[in-house]
Amino acid sequence: MMCLFCKIASAQIPSDIVMQDDGFLCFKDINPVAKTHLLIIPKQHIESFEAVPSGLMADMTIFIQQLTRKLGISKSGYRLVTNIGDDGGQEVAHLHFHLLSGEKLTHIYKR
Ligand code: 5GP
Ligand code: ZN
Repeated sequence: MMCLFCKIASAQIPSDIVMQDDGFLCFKDINPVAKTHLLIIPKQHIESFEAVPSGLMADMTIFIQQLTRKLGISKSGYRLVTNIGDDGGQEVAHLHFHLLSGEKLTHIYKR
């Protein structure tokens, strides 16, 4: 059984795609908590940050840096959040970074 984000990565479930390459996908969060609220995932299933190999994390970092340049927010700034496990409030067990931007972020993302 594919997880929700594996289905999104393979386009079995539609999403608003912002950017993708062979390894990674950025799409809009369905329930935004900031003016811009995007999710960045590896296309391969990795449960959380706890399980990510360092090489894949390095590639993901490059992807996110390309994305923030494309969005024009590398200078103005943004927030990256990844929730891990029960206490971290992770609801989808497929590694994802929340990218929040488009406004001055004063609020806490999750409490
Ligand atoms: P988590 O709580 O696991 O860190 O974040 C999961 C995120 O996925 C939430 O912000 C939620 O709004 C988003 N989400 C859940 N289901 C869907 C969906 O079907 N499509 C999209 N685009 N986002 C989703
Ligand atoms: Zn998955």
